[in-house]
Amino acid sequence: MDLLVPSLPTPIQQISDEITDKAGIRLFVKRDDLIHPFVSGNKWRKLKYNLQEAKDRGFTTLLTFGGAFSNHIYATAAAGAYLGFKTIGIVRGEDPEKRKSPTLQFCEQQGMRLHYVSREEYKLKNSPEYVDQLSRQFENSFIIPEGGTSKWALQGVREMTIEVEGQLNQKPDYYAVAAGTGGTAAGILSSGSDVLAFSSLKGGSFLKNDILDLLKGNNESGHLQLLTEYHFKGYARHTPELLDFIKKFKNKHSIQLEQVYTGKMLFGLYDLIAQGFFEKGSCVVAVHTGGLQGMLAELKFTTHVD
Ligand SMILES: *Cc1c(COP(=O)(O)O)cnc(C)c1O
Repeated sequence: MDLLVPSLPTPIQQISDEITDKAGIRLFVKRDDLIHPFVSGNKWRKLKYNLQEAKDRGFTTLLTFGGAFSNHIYATAAAGAYLGFKTIGIVRGEDPEKRKSPTLQFCEQQGMRLHYVSREEYKLKNSPEYVDQLSRQFENSFIIPEGGTSKWALQGVREMTIEVEGQLNQKPDYYAVAAGTGGTAAGILSSGSDVLAFSSLKGGSFLKNDILDLLKGNNESGHLQLLTEYHFKGYARHTPELLDFIKKFKNKHSIQLEQVYTGKMLFGLYDLIAQGFFEKGSCVVAVHTGGLQGMLAELKFTTHVD
């Protein structure tokens, strides 16, 4: 399916500075943030085959889950509007009415119907009984799990690794990627490459099992290393140190990061590089998974930091 005419393959950009030079490694950023203005990064990769499946099976509505700032719900609303699906978003928390987040406002503008559920109910999102109940309540809906993370997501993410291998003429020694549900990390692992996954959530060690579960039935898997200490106080939280890192990174490399996922991942990756984690000569690909719609305005308008 020629889904949303994205700009593929996305560029791969080498970045070097005193830290990468000192460590003697080659560091690349895979610019999946440039895939599409609304359906960006890993959300496009993860949605692609979910949408194909929905279309092939004749569904007319997409139903998915997210919080008020979810990049995935935003991407699904936009993709649905482009492709002629109705969309329903099951949103965690109460209806904020007039104080909707910009993400939810955008979803409504794309025609998404928002259905608010309590935090307790939201926790059931992956339970088969609850999903069954939703498919009876919202008839003819193709249900996409939170974050788009499903077996079809893995297939889409693997295509990113195929692009990278073509661009570098080799498998990188490591991919570095931010993790929320772990679907993107699982997709890369399923291509046989090794992954450093940086949890954006506090207490992210549960992700290891989730990722291994997603990989069940795949005959190949690279080695996973999960980093859980770069969450900056938790999901959707941040610190001045993190924001400062993002601003300096942009000044130096002209790549915009955001504070929920990619900023934390690159902060963590640079910390590992500086600690001598990588052998000299290593080739590392950091995946820019997009998500810039959720960036703090203060990062957008920064022009100069020492
Ligand atoms: C959703 C998201 C992630 C997390 O991806 P998972 O596959 O859920 O682990 C990482 N980065 C960005 C920018 C995202 O929007």
